[in-house]
Amino acid sequence: MFTPDDKLTELVLDYCRQRLALDPVPLDFGGSEDGFEVFLHGLLGPTGNDPADVLRLFSEHLAAAVVSCDSPRFLSFIPAAPTKAALLFDMVVSCSSLQATSWLEAAGAVAAENQALRLLADLAGLPEGAGGCFVAGGTAGNLSALLVARDTARLRGHDVARPMLAVSEEAHSSVAQAAHVIGVDLLTVPAVDHRLTGPSLAAVLRERPDAARVVGVVATAGTTNAGIVDDLAGVGEVARAHRLWFHVDAAYGGAGLFSPLVRDSYTGIEGADSLVTDPHKWLFAPFDCAALLYREPRLAKSVHTQDAAYLDVIHDEKEQWNPSDYAIHLTRRARGLPLWFSLAVHGTEAYREAVEAAIVLARATARLVEAAAHLELVREPDLSVVLFRRTGWERADYDAWSGQLLADQTGFVLPTTWEGRPTARLVFLHPETTLEMVEEILESMR
Ligand SMILES: *Cc1c(COP(=O)(O)O)cnc(C)c1O
Repeated sequence: MFTPDDKLTELVLDYCRQRLALDPVPLDFGGSEDGFEVFLHGLLGPTGNDPADVLRLFSEHLAAAVVSCDSPRFLSFIPAAPTKAALLFDMVVSCSSLQATSWLEAAGAVAAENQALRLLADLAGLPEGAGGCFVAGGTAGNLSALLVARDTARLRGHDVARPMLAVSEEAHSSVAQAAHVIGVDLLTVPAVDHRLTGPSLAAVLRERPDAARVVGVVATAGTTNAGIVDDLAGVGEVARAHRLWFHVDAAYGGAGLFSPLVRDSYTGIEGADSLVTDPHKWLFAPFDCAALLYREPRLAKSVHTQDAAYLDVIHDEKEQWNPSDYAIHLTRRARGLPLWFSLAVHGTEAYREAVEAAIVLARATARLVEAAAHLELVREPDLSVVLFRRTGWERADYDAWSGQLLADQTGFVLPTTWEGRPTARLVFLHPETTLEMVEEILESMR
């Protein structure tokens, strides 16, 4: 069967050692290489292959056809920059088959995850009783939280047959997806300079005929496209006045809570009923890791606890904390542990510095853009996303430029759309991205 093989262990650990030692991580190419069928043909069959051959095939033909999102030159979508401590501990989680589903089975792993969650709750200013669990991503977090918003609306006095959620037009696509899954309609609140504000939410609730159906509101702390933090204090106040569930999607931006440079813009986040932050984005954890927190976890537990005869034992002790009770999942990897280990090893001050490096770089980039005659800054960055345009360029120009940057391995930079126009977008979070790299990219737009 699965004959143990020391050689295999050595091979794979060596590969990991080499990957960890890459400095810097090369950008590589994404979907540019094809012909995978040639390499993969016949690989999976009744008999196995020499692990060295399989690993070589992987590293030469497959791994090289994945753009490295942990390269300091990866500046698209949302990059990644997991610490080595977190990556290595991810291997520990894997090699130990660590799951963290229930307290009964995995108290040690759950206790450590909860310590990391508590740290995030403290940063946000959530009360002592707050808690939750780690889920696979912001999408899963938003879905799980919004289901609780819907199912507990009655407790807040909303007795509506067809509930709605108020969202800004800038909310992440996963919010609409979640609403679709749970069968809730969306009431779109016009943003004010791309921000959801308390007054605009209040106006919509006052004026729209279907406003009585609204049971919750989603605010974003760091929009994905532009890094804009909504008026959390204002939105939270209106939410409380209308007894709405107040969900804050801080999947990308939650990391800013570490930095006094931007902490003020999060004022009001402490009033959230639920909050999502992705450590696999700007908190230097490996995929897949999102923190989901609730102000009153018992509400989430009443919605998410799965009921099955074989699970009764994990619910015998009412006070025990089962991460499975707080989101749409049951068996779950102890995915909070790499973050926990890295936080414990490096300390929060290192996290503050790393987060601020990106904010400072975004601000410095904005100054370079302003100073360049061929470029225009679209808006002052709130966090670590910089939007700007090259005078006179059309979409095709941005696309060609972007393709050339990747071909030259100068950067992975994809254009976006802002106010209906093609726009260059740089997202910083890798602590080793330098201003020189940015200069090189801006220079290439002449
Ligand atoms: C990235 C992001 C999400 C989705 O998170 P995943 O981890 O990709 O599922 C949701 N909301 C915001 C604001 C995001 O930036």
